[in-house]
Amino acid sequence: MTDTRAVHTRTRGARLRRPAPSLVEPVHTDLLVSPVEGGSTINELDLATELLANARDVVLVAHIHPDADALGSALALGMGLARRGKPVAVSFAEPDLVPESLRGLPGAHLVVAPDDLPPHPDLLVSLDVGSVERLGSLARLFDTCRQSLVIDHHASNTRFGQFHYVDAAADATVVMVARILDRLGIPIDREMGENLYAGLATDTGHFRHADPDAHLLAARLIEAGVRPPDVMLPITDSHPFGWLGMLSSVLGAAVLDTGAAQGRGLVYTIIDDDVRAGLRPEELDSVIDILRTAQEAGVAAVLKQTSADSWQVSLRSREPINVAAAAAALGGGGHIRAAGFTHHGDPMLAVDALRAVLDR
Ligand code: AMP
Ligand code: MN
Ligand code: MN
Repeated sequence: MTDTRAVHTRTRGARLRRPAPSLVEPVHTDLLVSPVEGGSTINELDLATELLANARDVVLVAHIHPDADALGSALALGMGLARRGKPVAVSFAEPDLVPESLRGLPGAHLVVAPDDLPPHPDLLVSLDVGSVERLGSLARLFDTCRQSLVIDHHASNTRFGQFHYVDAAADATVVMVARILDRLGIPIDREMGENLYAGLATDTGHFRHADPDAHLLAARLIEAGVRPPDVMLPITDSHPFGWLGMLSSVLGAAVLDTGAAQGRGLVYTIIDDDVRAGLRPEELDSVIDILRTAQEAGVAAVLKQTSADSWQVSLRSREPINVAAAAAALGGGGHIRAAGFTHHGDPMLAVDALRAVLDR
C-alpha cells in the first residue's frame, strides 16, 4: 500500500496525518457491481460513498486548469475525508500552481504537485472531469491505482474510470460531493462549505441556472457560515485595472454573424497574446459572460490564445442550441449551454469549423 503520509504538500511541505479508523462501517467493495449503463444515479451514489468509506488512501484529481467546481469539489471532499482520518491528496496536472483566484479556498494544504503524488493510490477519484484527456498527465494514475471512481456532471462524460457516479442533471460536481458527504455522515463546516459554494455559484452562472437542489444547498452553506460576497470576491468579482482595457478591445472587436447557427446567430471574439497583455486566465475567462448577452446571437464564442499555435475556445448558447454537441464534434466537450474545445492553428479556421458544425 502506498503511504500518502510521506507526500509533501506544495504549499507547506507538511506531512499528511496518520489515518484513524473510519467512522463509516466497512463494506466489501468486491461484492459491489458497477451499475449498468443508464443505471440509476442513486445506486451510483451508494457505490461512490462505499468506495470512499472503504478506501485506505484517496487521491482526488481535478481537470487541467481547474475551475472553482473542480478544485472546490476536490478540496471539500478531501477536507471531509481528512477530518475522518483518511490520508488524502488533491492534485491537477496543469498549471503548476493553484490559479490565483482560487488560492483563498480553504484546504490548500491538501494540494500536492503531480510528481509528489503516491504512484499507486488505493482509490483515485476524478472530479468534474468529462473525459480522460482533461486530466492531462495525471491520466497515468488510472493505470496504477487499485480502484478508480469518476464523479462528474458533464453530459458528455465518457465513463473512463472503473466506477462512476455521473449525474448530468446535477448543476455542479459540488452538489454531488455534498450528497456523498451527507451519506458519509461528515458534517459540512464553513471551510468545506466555502469550497462547495464557490463551485455552485460559478457553475450555475451565479444561480441564474440553478435548480432547487442547488438553491437548497446554497442555503445550507450560508447557514453553515459561508459568506457569499467574501468567497466570490477573488473568484469572479475582482480584476486588475488592465482588465478594463482588454475588455474594451476584445468586446469592441467582436463580430456578429447573424446568418450562422442556422440563422440563430453567432457572436465571437479573439483574444491573442498581444491584446491579453499578460493578464491572468481569470481575466480572459470573464469575457464570454459578457459576449453571450448579445441578443442577436444564439451562440457566443471566445477564442483564447494559449500558446503560439493553440487556442482554447469557450462556447455558450441559448435554447435550443446544444454547444456540447458542437464542441464534441470539434474534439472538446462540456454542457449543453456551456462547452469548449481546443484548436491548433489559425483561429479563423476554428471559427469556420464552428460555423460548419453549427449549420449541421
Ligand atoms: P469554459 O468555457 O472554459 O468555462 O468551459 C465550459 C465547459 O466546457 C466546461 O464544462 C468544460 O469542462 C468544457 N470544456 C471547455 N474546454 C474544453 C476542452 N478543450 N475539452 C473538453 N471540454 C472542455
Ligand atoms: Mn469544471
Ligand atoms: Mn462543473
